[in-house]
Amino acid sequence: MRNEALLEELTQAFGVAGFEGEVREIIRREAQPYADEIREDAMGNLIVLKKGTDSPNKKRIMFAAHMDEIGFMVKKILPDGTLLICNLGWNWAGSVYNERVRFRNGVTGVVGCRGSIEDAKNDVKKLFVDIGAKDAEDAKKYVRLGDPCGYMGPYLHMQNDLICSKSLDNRIGCWQLLEALRDNDGSGPNDVYYVFTVQEELGCRGSGPAAEAIRPDIGVAVDITPAHDYPCDLEGSNEVGKGVAVKVCDPSVVCDERIVSAMETCCRQMEIPYQLEVIDQGGTDASSMNLSHYGVRVGGIAVATRYPHCQSCVASLKDIEAGARLCAAFAKHEFIWG
Ligand SMILES: [Zn+2]
Repeated sequence: MRNEALLEELTQAFGVAGFEGEVREIIRREAQPYADEIREDAMGNLIVLKKGTDSPNKKRIMFAAHMDEIGFMVKKILPDGTLLICNLGWNWAGSVYNERVRFRNGVTGVVGCRGSIEDAKNDVKKLFVDIGAKDAEDAKKYVRLGDPCGYMGPYLHMQNDLICSKSLDNRIGCWQLLEALRDNDGSGPNDVYYVFTVQEELGCRGSGPAAEAIRPDIGVAVDITPAHDYPCDLEGSNEVGKGVAVKVCDPSVVCDERIVSAMETCCRQMEIPYQLEVIDQGGTDASSMNLSHYGVRVGGIAVATRYPHCQSCVASLKDIEAGARLCAAFAKHEFIWG
């Protein structure tokens, strides 16, 4: 796959919600040669503009891919040197138990559980991080209250073009937008804002203010979506390797039918494999763009991912490429409605 090394670099960068700087600088570096304008807002969203022609049907399109990943924050350092943590985003205690985490300053640790993990249910209050400190005084040499830590999960190739890594949610979307930006030569009718948002995992906090500033005609969230083709989660239709997912509905948004239809048209014209996405849990930046200003027509482009929200997310390179191609085609689509 073209530029796969960049996807790997993005997945391995540190970008726990609220602390996206490392990811943002990689994206800024990659976007610079292709952008008409790049700005960073007060929240840390990176807003990259590529202008279109002077078409009478010009639309302002805002793509939003969140840079942040789920993780934890130190809330107490215990006398024995272990660290109590709180959630930054939705973590499943079972998947992080006995696993490694990394702090932004490079300090590493292992997540343990006070008592049995079965009794902990999904209560992060029962978890602690062991960085190998002798006691609290020793621990404070390496970490302090408020330090964020994220998952460790190297980038691996599996069979049938599948990859496994931490933070596929949502470095896949960041990579897709960068690819689509590279493909945009400015000959399309639309002004396209490629927005790399912050704090999506904390409740889509970044994309709303960015949309207020941009006031797009159309908002498109570019993200992952849970797969339903494996025994963990069968209640849905998303399948890995069956093409990019065109969002129809999730609990936070009902996509505009004209946007869904335009995406299907793009897929048919460009022979991009796609599937429709309807899920009954989760949400994306589409919801906050939808409710911004006086309301915005929105849609979503997603990649079906197994084991989301852990260190071992699995997705298909073919779906990832298909999503980038759909973003590129949609950016150039001529919208003839009002
Ligand atoms: Zn996401």
